[in-house]
Amino acid sequence: MIDRPESLIIRPPSEWRSLLVRITRGCNWNRCRFCGLYPAMGQPDYSCRSLTEIKHDIDLLTRRHPEVETAFFGDADPLSAGMEIFVGAARYLREHLPIKRLTSYARISTLHKLGRDTIHQLAEAGLNRVHLGLESGDPEILQFQRKGQSPKMVVTVANWLKEAGIERSYYVLLGLGGQAQSEQHIRSTARIINETEPEFVRLRRLWLYDKNLEKKCPLWEQIEDGSFVEQTAEGTVLEVQLLLDLLNPLNTFFACDHANNYINVSGLLKDDREDMLREVAVFLALPEEQRQAHYRMVGSRI
Ligand code: SF4
Repeated sequence: MIDRPESLIIRPPSEWRSLLVRITRGCNWNRCRFCGLYPAMGQPDYSCRSLTEIKHDIDLLTRRHPEVETAFFGDADPLSAGMEIFVGAARYLREHLPIKRLTSYARISTLHKLGRDTIHQLAEAGLNRVHLGLESGDPEILQFQRKGQSPKMVVTVANWLKEAGIERSYYVLLGLGGQAQSEQHIRSTARIINETEPEFVRLRRLWLYDKNLEKKCPLWEQIEDGSFVEQTAEGTVLEVQLLLDLLNPLNTFFACDHANNYINVSGLLKDDREDMLREVAVFLALPEEQRQAHYRMVGSRI
């Protein structure tokens, strides 16, 4: 076995200090229209790594970073490797390193298939938090974007996770309803967040990468045939405003923690919602020219 751990392709920005452990390679679903990121980044095929390979990586990583306090499992859906591998890796890691937090990406549909009792087993194995792609709370948008999950499924899984004591970190994709379904997207998303009160809500902006390359974002096809009209920059800021406006004073940390976001507000909804709304309003009151210059300045990157 080589003396170099395998690297993850993508990790949440909030996991920048974590030990990054690769359980699976790529995405086993790979169908979301707005994504296609793993193939675009050189990982078109999906595969599971063996527990022996993962343990070997954990040995190498813990030797290199004995002081690390948190760990993260990737690539897209590590639970698709099966419980034996996932729990085996979680237990092995916790036996060898006194970490305070273990987090993982997880597909909501995979957790739904695993069921309530298995989710409790994940908590027992030391999983503290899952990063979930909510994207939208709207059934029509989720279906059009081929996300493979329904709002009902999200609520069920969110409740199971809460019961098991596993924190839920949702990703919401601004602009996912395009211009036509913008309000529908935000209203339905707010409804699910209010109903399930996740510990974190993290906003992202739909990123339509590499229009002219072979591995472009799959959604370009619908943009080119006119069935999807991309949201404007200002439209995504208005979506942040509407979302904040509709959310209850929840015990949820709300963050725009990605460089792609046109506006960067963060805080606990129950304490800071009004301040965040004020910040958005101050930005929207800037002269048009200044706002447009700001939009041009914000880059698009993963
Ligand atoms: S959004 Fe997640 S589940 Fe969908 S294709 Fe991308 S990595 Fe896979």
